[in-house]
Formats: sequence, C-alpha cells, structure tokens
Amino acid sequence: VLCSPVIKEEVNFKTKLTNHLYHALERDELELHYQPQICLQTGKIVGVEALLRWTHPELNMIPPNVFIPLAEQTGLINPIGEWVLKTACCQNKAWQEMGLPPVRMAVNISATQFRNPKLTTLIKKLLKETDLKPRYFELELTENIAINQSDYIIEILDRLRKQGVFISIDDFGTEYSSLSRLKTLPIDQIKIDKQFIDGVAKGKTDQAIVNTIILLAKNLGLNVIAEGVETHEQLAFLKDIQCDSVQGFYYHRPMPAQELEIILQYQNDT
Ligand code: C2E
Ligand code: CA
Ligand code: CA
Ligand code: CA
Repeated sequence: VLCSPVIKEEVNFKTKLTNHLYHALERDELELHYQPQICLQTGKIVGVEALLRWTHPELNMIPPNVFIPLAEQTGLINPIGEWVLKTACCQNKAWQEMGLPPVRMAVNISATQFRNPKLTTLIKKLLKETDLKPRYFELELTENIAINQSDYIIEILDRLRKQGVFISIDDFGTEYSSLSRLKTLPIDQIKIDKQFIDGVAKGKTDQAIVNTIILLAKNLGLNVIAEGVETHEQLAFLKDIQCDSVQGFYYHRPMPAQELEIILQYQNDT
C-alpha cells in the first residue's frame, strides 16, 4: 500500500511523539491540572477532576486528546496512569493537611488500565500509603468502558466501591447504554456529556435528553454532574431541573494546584 505524503507525515509525527512520551515521565514533563466541581445547592466546590498536562520542551503543550490515545496504544498508559493516581492522591492529602476544605479527587481511568488485574490492589495500596480516605477519591470511567465490559467490570467496580471509592460514569449519553444495564452497574454518579450541555440553550431536544437523564439518575439513586458548563443560561437550566453539580469554564478552567489552593482557601474563609 502506498502512503500519501500527508499520512506519512502523520505517522512520523506519531512515532516521534511516542518516543518523546517514553521519556516524559522520567523527565518530569507531566503535570496534573485540577478543575473544580460545584454543588448547585451550596455553591461550594465539592470535588476536582485531575486532568493530565504534558509540556514538551520543543513541541510545547500537547493536548491529552492527542497523547492519551498514543499512550493507550503503546501500553505507556500503565506507568503514566499509575503516576496520575499517585500524584492525585498525594495532592489531595496535602490539601487536607494544609487545612483546606476537603474535596473529592476524580481521576480518569482508561480502558487499558481497567484491564490491568492489579488496578484494585494498586488503588488500595495508594490510599493506604497516602492515608487518604477513600470517600475523597473518585474514579471516572467512560460510558463505553462501563457498558462494553461484561461481568468483569462489575466485579472490579464492586470491589472498589466496597473500599469506599466513589465511581462515576464519564461522557454519559454518548453511547447507547440500555437502562437495564445501567441499573446493574455499581456506580455513584453520572457525568452528562458536554455535547448535551452545549445543546440545552439551543433547543428543546437536548433539554429533554438532559432532563430525562437527570430523572433516570435520581430514580436509580445516583448523583448527576453536568460537564462543560460555559454559560449562565446553561447553569440556570441545570439548576431548574435540579442537577446536583456542575463542572465547566463558567466557573473555572482546569488549573495548577497552587491556583486551586487560593480558591479553596477563599472558600474556607467565607
Ligand atoms: P474528559 O474526561 O471528558 O475531561 C473533560 C475535558 O473537557 C477536559 O479536557 C476539560 O479541560 C474540558 N472542559 C471542562 N470544562 C469545559 C468547558 O466548559 N468547555 C470546554 N470547551 N471544555 C471543557 P482536557 O483536559 O483537554 O482532557 C481531554 C480528555 O483527555 C479528557 O476528557 C480525558 O478523556 C482525557 N484525559 C485527561 N487526563 C487524563 C488522565 O489522567 N488519564 C486518562 N486516562 N485520560 C485523561
Ligand atoms: Ca473525565
Ligand atoms: Ca467527560
Ligand atoms: Ca470526553
């Protein structure tokens, strides 16, 4: 098969990037940023999502949507994911020791990480080592992992929840989960995907979808968070239909730990 120059260039770029990614961890080029999640009843920050950032010295900031898939393909997601879990736990414990109001720390877990049989043991070990209470620790897995992975995933989630870990389904609404399937999943929260939140100010269809998801979640005893909230209009709608919490640029962008500390400190003082 002949490769067009454009494809060739893309392959070269990916190979180059993967090679760089191998060294990113040891060269200390990875960093976590944190985006607050706000409870709509109290207006307070109840959680933060840890989001990975990679600053390459020459290529500058490479977005996670570009390098996470590469890390998944190469297996690098395992050491990187372990670093993320550890850094997030340590950071949350450090904030608590600084006397900041306690928040739940949400970490994204990829499909490959879920297939690693050592995941639950690793998390247990990290929580013990950092002395972080499991209720301040949350795992986000995408809807597509949750519905595509049979009984194995249910067993893992069950085990984690028994340890006290909080479980969320990310990007909810983008796949076609059957309602009966959702009912059997041992989870605590649903994160409504940004695409529906984008639509709520534009028309009735997405409003109806978001409304239905919230009703469904409430009936199943689940918490609901909306992601990608950018406008006052979206916020007003979500408050109106009693969404539990929100995350998005309207309140805060993802930020480095030191910036979040100032915001949490302010919340403590008011
Ligand atoms: P995600 O888990 O759905 O994360 C939410 C993404 O939406 C983040 O992009 C966040 O910065 C962005 N976002 C939040 N609020 C708004 C908003 O109001 N408007 C807009 N336009 N965007 C908003 P980010 O940080 O670029 O991450 C992209 C994806 O990369 C994440 O999507 C997640 O799937 C993946 N990712 C990031 N960090 C990790 C990680 O540590 N491990 C794994 N496995 N995946 C990660
Ligand atoms: Ca997420
Ligand atoms: Ca998401
Ligand atoms: Ca997403």
